Amino acid sequence: MNQQLNIDDKRIDGKAVAAQLRRDIAGQVRARREAGLAPPGLAVVLVGEDPASKVYVGSKVKACAEAGFVSKTYRLEADTGEAELLALIDGLNADAEIHGILVQLPLPPQIDVQAVIERIDPAKDVDGFHPYNLGRLAGKAPTLRPCTPYGCMRLLKNAGVDCVGKKAVVIGASNIVGRPVALELLLERATVTVCHSKTVNLADEVAQADIVIAAVGIPGFIKGKWIKPGAVVIDVGINRLESGKLAGDVEYDSAQLRASKITPVPGGVGPMTIACLLQNTLEACEAVEASLLH
Ligand code: NAP
Repeated sequence: MNQQLNIDDKRIDGKAVAAQLRRDIAGQVRARREAGLAPPGLAVVLVGEDPASKVYVGSKVKACAEAGFVSKTYRLEADTGEAELLALIDGLNADAEIHGILVQLPLPPQIDVQAVIERIDPAKDVDGFHPYNLGRLAGKAPTLRPCTPYGCMRLLKNAGVDCVGKKAVVIGASNIVGRPVALELLLERATVTVCHSKTVNLADEVAQADIVIAAVGIPGFIKGKWIKPGAVVIDVGINRLESGKLAGDVEYDSAQLRASKITPVPGGVGPMTIACLLQNTLEACEAVEASLLH
């Protein structure tokens, strides 16, 4: 019983934190409408039939509706050419009802992902992947920030974790998670190490960490015995097992015995990503109004 209580105490409940953020956002949107202001608008673009992408897009559209946003969804055929997608983005860049544009990744091979990311107006880049927004984060002046890393930082803050002076180890160096989360941690004054597939002695790196962020994409890859006692563990991984169950990148059962706080999968970082997407869209909407006042 006591052990159960301890486990619950350690668990960072991303589902609850995300639900609260979404309620706050919905409240702000209601207040905007009552004040005669336009609701935030999000455009979601899906190219092709990737099953996971279809699920993500469905969740994003539902979340928009619940928050009172305007949402527009564009479902394009898998053989859509790059020029057609770029033309759609141009139209959305010019659409005053739309404050955020999200092109669901991955894209089919005939489309250059970087060209698409760079075509989105940085002021509407609610995924935070445009080089302008990444550059602002790197330059200690964040604008729209990548949603999953932003979600990780909100979870740390909500759990009362102070990053200042802590040793943070990020496993994974992708553009969408590992690299930007390392920049976020640096912004919070942690001492940051980024590990990737060429890192030597990964276990030793992880064993030194006060804060572990795992974003590798291999179920149970980070062993519980590597975790320093008392460390905070944020597991970004979402991996579908053959059984159909979801698993994180961290061996949860053994890691939670050593960690002081840990996110579960599912129910940890995952729900935060959509909540932060809504937050970014609201911020993008407010930024347009602020720029009109100047
Ligand atoms: P990714 O683009 O495939 O990047 C994986 C990273 O892990 C790469 O930097 C890779 O190193 C590194 N890696 C691979 N094998 C390794 C090894 N043996 N040792 C150390 N590092 C290794 O993946 P991603 O898009 O960042 O996603 C990572 C995980 O997070 C996935 O499970 C994904 O589903 C999940 N995810 C969750 C959310 C969410 O909302 N919660 C959002 C995005 C992603 P190299 O750079 O050397 O190749």
